[in-house]
Amino acid sequence: MNVAIDGPAGAGKSTIARKTAYNIGYIYVDTGAIYRTLALACIRRGVSAEDEEKISSVCRNVKVELKYIDGGQVMLLDGENVNDYIRTEEVSRMTSSISVYKDVREQLIDLQRNIAANENVIMDGRDIGTFVLPNAEVKIYLTASVATRAKRRYMEQQEKGIECTIEEIEKDIEQRDYRDMNREIAPLKKADDAVEIDTSDMTIEQVTDAIEKIIKEKMS
Ligand code: C5P
Repeated sequence: MNVAIDGPAGAGKSTIARKTAYNIGYIYVDTGAIYRTLALACIRRGVSAEDEEKISSVCRNVKVELKYIDGGQVMLLDGENVNDYIRTEEVSRMTSSISVYKDVREQLIDLQRNIAANENVIMDGRDIGTFVLPNAEVKIYLTASVATRAKRRYMEQQEKGIECTIEEIEKDIEQRDYRDMNREIAPLKKADDAVEIDTSDMTIEQVTDAIEKIIKEKMS
């Protein structure tokens, strides 16, 4: 059974997908983390986001792997656990810039499909229901207003002790939404057969309950 959860940055995908997966005993796959790992490799090599050729070369020369340790997803870049380095705003920006490129997306597609082929997964991302797992049994499209999403991201960053303003985050979210929705390859959009849930005025529990109900209905 494959569950695809797509939506824009800050709609609550990862929190909700992780919780739902835990509740029903599925594996949670955060595909954003996979793209982020490749972006980190580009930053570390000093490659500019505009330099498609060099980015393609980084894709060919690094190894991105995913492991589960104590139930948590761990991203490995050439064997190094990089989980602590892939959540900065710098990496977020680089990720959305490089994920428009064909070589980047092709490099990471098999990794995502292979996990889903072998396990019951809840996979979150931007193109899971439309492109990575078009035959997923359940597809959810999570949205929320830009103001709500910026506020959530801001609180997350505050908790991590990262300095930022809500205005910066709002601008960043708008730019990422635009890039993710307007890129040529696998843009972010709701799959025709996805159920859309606007999480702006919902608690995490309300959203996970709604998704679990949809999954149970599909299984019966
Ligand atoms: O979900 P997260 O915010 O970690 O994703 C970071 C970026 O990775 C997104 O803004 C998007 O550009 C890219 N991404 C993607 N396709 C996915 C998952 C993430 O292009 N399936």
